[in-house]
Amino acid sequence: MRMFKNLFIPVVLVIIVWFSGSFADPAVETIHRVENFGVNIFILETKSALYLIDAGYPQFQEKIIKKIKSLNKLLRLILLTHAHYDHFGNVLPLKNFSGAKVAIHQADSQALCDGFTDLTNVRGFGHVGRGILPLAEKVLKPQVCAPDLILHDNDTLDEYGIRIRVVHTPGHTRGSCTFILQDSIAFVGDLFVTYPDFCKQHFYANSWEQIDSSSVKLLRYSFVLAYAGHRGITADRQLIEKLVNFRPPH
Ligand SMILES: [Zn+2]
Repeated sequence: MRMFKNLFIPVVLVIIVWFSGSFADPAVETIHRVENFGVNIFILETKSALYLIDAGYPQFQEKIIKKIKSLNKLLRLILLTHAHYDHFGNVLPLKNFSGAKVAIHQADSQALCDGFTDLTNVRGFGHVGRGILPLAEKVLKPQVCAPDLILHDNDTLDEYGIRIRVVHTPGHTRGSCTFILQDSIAFVGDLFVTYPDFCKQHFYANSWEQIDSSSVKLLRYSFVLAYAGHRGITADRQLIEKLVNFRPPH
């Protein structure tokens, strides 16, 4: 009986604090988009923290830092959709500024450590991008670091205070991932592109076959809206279904 009395007050306090919402609330209230030369950097804002999706081109971090400072909350995670220099270029200065943990899929983690952008197979405009890559890397000097958190297919990030599911969607790179927020918004990275309109990646691939199979895989998950890694254009689920199921005439 005495033991029950000793435990009664702490247990009641925990229940009150829990229901008053004083613990980290995982619901994202606002999604902020910072554009960095056509690359989307998303800042997901919950009641108590911020989470970044991608870090943009190297050397242009001031705009991102200014936005994070204006929100005045702790940046907990920097999630990278894949290891390409226009998405990881500022990861080190952003980590140093905020102390946030950097997360990337296991299959892209070595490329991130090495600052390596793999443009194995290209089509169309992709030839231009691959041609200027060595010069761009020399001038812009990506600032990278080893990841703190290695992601795997179907991981969830609840323990970091946010309801995100990691879906491994390789094809653009070996470790490309889609991050699905609260079963409603899919951040697809470069699995889809927005040039000229929202469509499946057709410029750069580690494996074109995997671009197709990852697009099909994505439809196994619940979401209503998709954001690609470039430009502020969104696609609803119906459009993604149409794009995934489209077969060009032979
Ligand atoms: Zn890319």
